[in-house]
Amino acid sequence: MTTTELTGAEDVAWDLSDLYESGEDPRIEQDVEETEAAAAAFRERYHGKVAELSAAELAEAIDERERIESIFTRAIYYAHLWFSTDMADPTRGALLARLTEKGATIDTQLLFFGLEIADLDDAAADALQADPALERWRYWLRSVRKFRPYILTEPEEKIMTEKSVSSMSAWDRLYDELIGALRVELDGAEISFEQAMAKLYSNDRDERRRASEAVTVTLEPGLRTRTFIFNTLVLDKSIDDRLRGYETWLSARNLRNDTTDEAVQALVDATVSRYDVVQRYYRLKARLIGLDRLAFYDRMAPIAEDPTKVSWEESRQVVLDAYRDFSSDVGEIAERFFRENWIDAPVRENKRTGAFCATNVPGVHPYVFMNFTGDRRSILTLAHELGHGLHGYLAQPLGLFNASTPLTTAETASVFGEALTFKRLLAIEEDPNRRLNLLAGRIEDSIATVFRQIAMNRFEHAVHTARREEGELSMEKLEELWLETQTQLFGDSVDVDGYGTWWSYVSHFMGTPGYVYAYAYGFLFALSIFRKYELERDAMVEPYLAVLRAGGSKPPEELAEIVGLDLTDPGIWESGIDALAAELDEAEALAADIGLG
Ligand SMILES: [Zn+2]
Repeated sequence: MTTTELTGAEDVAWDLSDLYESGEDPRIEQDVEETEAAAAAFRERYHGKVAELSAAELAEAIDERERIESIFTRAIYYAHLWFSTDMADPTRGALLARLTEKGATIDTQLLFFGLEIADLDDAAADALQADPALERWRYWLRSVRKFRPYILTEPEEKIMTEKSVSSMSAWDRLYDELIGALRVELDGAEISFEQAMAKLYSNDRDERRRASEAVTVTLEPGLRTRTFIFNTLVLDKSIDDRLRGYETWLSARNLRNDTTDEAVQALVDATVSRYDVVQRYYRLKARLIGLDRLAFYDRMAPIAEDPTKVSWEESRQVVLDAYRDFSSDVGEIAERFFRENWIDAPVRENKRTGAFCATNVPGVHPYVFMNFTGDRRSILTLAHELGHGLHGYLAQPLGLFNASTPLTTAETASVFGEALTFKRLLAIEEDPNRRLNLLAGRIEDSIATVFRQIAMNRFEHAVHTARREEGELSMEKLEELWLETQTQLFGDSVDVDGYGTWWSYVSHFMGTPGYVYAYAYGFLFALSIFRKYELERDAMVEPYLAVLRAGGSKPPEELAEIVGLDLTDPGIWESGIDALAAELDEAEALAADIGLG
C-alpha cells in the first residue's frame, strides 16, 4: 500500500493481550498441552461407551467436549489474529501452522463422539433429548444427529470416505489447479485472471471490453476439460444423493445449512419473481453511464468518481450514532470495541487483506479486523464487522457450541448493522450526486448478494437436473443453460453476447454444489427483520436482540419466529426485496431530478 493520505486509523491496533501476553507466552503451550491431555482422557473415558450414558452423564460429557474445544479455540484464534496483522513474520506463521496441525490431530481423536451420538437408536435418543438434564444440548444433539437417516453402514461409509480422496476431492483439486494456472493476455502483457477481472471495474469502457474479450479467449482452450470435470462432479454427487436417499440435488446442502427444502424454494421463487428489479436497475445504470444498453462487462463500471474521503473518527461517529439510535445498550456495546481496543483498523504492510470479525473467542470478546482506507465503502464495512461483533458478544454466554451460527444466519447482525448505517449515511448526505452514488452502490451490492446468487442457483439446478435426466452434458448444453438462466435475470437489459463460457471459472459450482444461495438467504433474512424494524421501530429492538442472543442455539425457522417471521412464507423474502426496490425507486427519482435519468 503506497497511500500517503492519513485516515486517523494509523494507530488503531487491537490489543491481543486479553488472550495471551505475546506469541511467546508460555500459557499458549500450557493450553495446548491441557487440550491434548483432556482429549486423550476424554477418549479413554467415553470411546465406545456413549450409548451407555445416562442423560446426566451425556450432558457432562458434552460440557467437557465443549470445554476442550474452547481452550484450544482460544489458542488457535490467537495464532490466527496475530498472524493476520503480519503475515511476513515467520514466527507467527510457524505458530499458526503448528496449532493447525495439532487441531487436526485432536479432532480426529474426538471424532468418535459425534459418530456415536448419531449412531444412538431413535428411541434412546428421543428419551435422552426429552430429559431435562440435556435441555441445554437439545438442539445441538439434534444437529449432530440430523444426518442419521442418510448415513450408510459403517463399512460403506469407510469406503465412501477413503474413495472420495481419489474421486470428488481429486477432480475438485484438478479444477482449482487449472483455474489457478490461467493467464490472460491483454495488450501484449500476461496478467493473472484476477487482474483481468479487476479491469471490469474500470471507468474506461474500451478497457472493460478488451479485458472481457481477453478473459473469454483465456477460458476457451480448457473448456472441454472443465466441462468434463463439472460433469463428473455432478455425476458423483448424484450417486451420493441416490445411495444416501436425499430427495433433491439441494436437500443435503439445505440440511447442512439447517434449513428446509420448503424455505429455500420460497426464497428462490420470491427472488426469481422479482428479477424486474435487476432489469430496471441495469437500464438506469446504462443511462447513468451514457450507454443505450449495458454489455455484460459494463455491470461493474463505476457510476461516478467519488473522491470523498472520510476519516476514522468520522466513520466511528457515523457507525456509533447508527447503532446508538437503534438502542443505547447496543451503542454502548459497539463503543467498547473502540474504547477497549478490540479493533485493528489501518492498512499496514504484510497485513492480510479484507475484513473479518473473530466472533466467538472463548472467554474473551470478539475482535474486528479491517483495512480502513477512508473511502465510503469502509464505513459500511466497519458497520458490517461490528454487527458480527455485536452478535458474538451477545451470544457468547451460551458457550462455544450454542453460540456458533450456521452460514444461513451468520450474516444477520452484519447485514442489519450495515442497513442501519446506510440509512444514516443517506440521511446526512445532501448532495444529490453523492446520494445517487450511495444508492447505486447499495443496490449493486444487493444484486451481487441476492439476485446474482439465485440466478447461479438456477443454473446449478438446471445442470444437476439435466445431468440426472439426460446423462453427460456437452459444452454447448452448459453454455445454453448458463445463458438461459442469466438471460432470465437480465431480460433485455444486458447484452450477454460473449458471456456463454463464463460459468466455467466459478469454483463454487465444483467443490461446494448448492452453496451460493446461502448468501441470498442470509441477506434477505436480515433485511426482512430490518424492514420490520423500520415499521415497528422500538417494538422490534428487544425481539431482534433476542435473536442475536440465541446465537446458533435454535434453527433459523425458530429464530425467525422470535421476530414474528415465517421462513416458509414467500412474503418474508419478498419484503426484503421490496426494501431493495424502494431504494431503486429513490435512485430513479434522484437521477431524474439531476437530469441523468
Ligand atoms: Zn459478514
